[in-house]
Amino acid sequence: SDHDLTYPETPEAMNWGDHYPSYVATVPAAVPKDDPVATEDGNDYGVPRMTKQVEVADIGCGFGGLLFALAPKMPETLILGLEIRTSVTEFVQEKAKALRVQHSPESVPGGYQNVSCIRANTMKFLPNFFAKAQLSKIFLCFPDPHFKARKHKARIVSTTLNSEYAFVVRPGGRVYTITDVEDLHRWMVEHFEAHPSFERVEGEELEGDEVLKVMTTETEEGKKVERNGGTKYVAVFTRLEDPPWP
Ligand code: SAM
Repeated sequence: SDHDLTYPETPEAMNWGDHYPSYVATVPAAVPKDDPVATEDGNDYGVPRMTKQVEVADIGCGFGGLLFALAPKMPETLILGLEIRTSVTEFVQEKAKALRVQHSPESVPGGYQNVSCIRANTMKFLPNFFAKAQLSKIFLCFPDPHFKARKHKARIVSTTLNSEYAFVVRPGGRVYTITDVEDLHRWMVEHFEAHPSFERVEGEELEGDEVLKVMTTETEEGKKVERNGGTKYVAVFTRLEDPPWP
């Protein structure tokens, strides 16, 4: 049950500084609380300003294998895992903290300062966490298959949810999917291809996409599938530009 989950009212209300302390802006000397200029300027008292925003989201990140593999490869980019299980979320948060202590930015690019995890049911309120067009990449790795037809509504790819992904991903950004369940793969491809904001990317256009390689090898579930000799079905979609306003 997720009745105890909390959500920020808006992405700005989220305390991102707790997750990425190295990216908190040094705020100039306190401005009086009732200073109208400061308020108009969006001086959000009590919420630290960030020098960067999250750009990459791993939805249903599990134990974070992909997050920690990506972090040094994109040291300038804030990466966030979203996971519904409390203990798993805490594991990933603690691991990020431990890796930051063990590896300085000099020894490992980014020093794992750019990776964290929050507990969330991503089927609800995704736009509460991310502003329109904030993200450049979303990963949907080995989502729970929910095999039975009456359970399909629990799948994290659907017409409705794809519209939320379209909202938070910027034009030119990419959504990556991987699964060992062929039926789910077809379902995800069908739903993204049917969505006006997405188009599948294939062949040459995927050459040189470093993160695609990382995604196919580095998630915990992917490693399990590999050990068991299973098949991994991969698909990539690009977020199209919105059509011009008529
Ligand atoms: N992506 C990881 C990997 O590839 O190793 C984990 C895959 S695991 C099969 C699916 C994960 O999605 C689980 O950790 C589960 O708790 C999480 N999950 C399922 N539904 C979710 C939801 N609505 N919001 C966030 N996480 C969810």
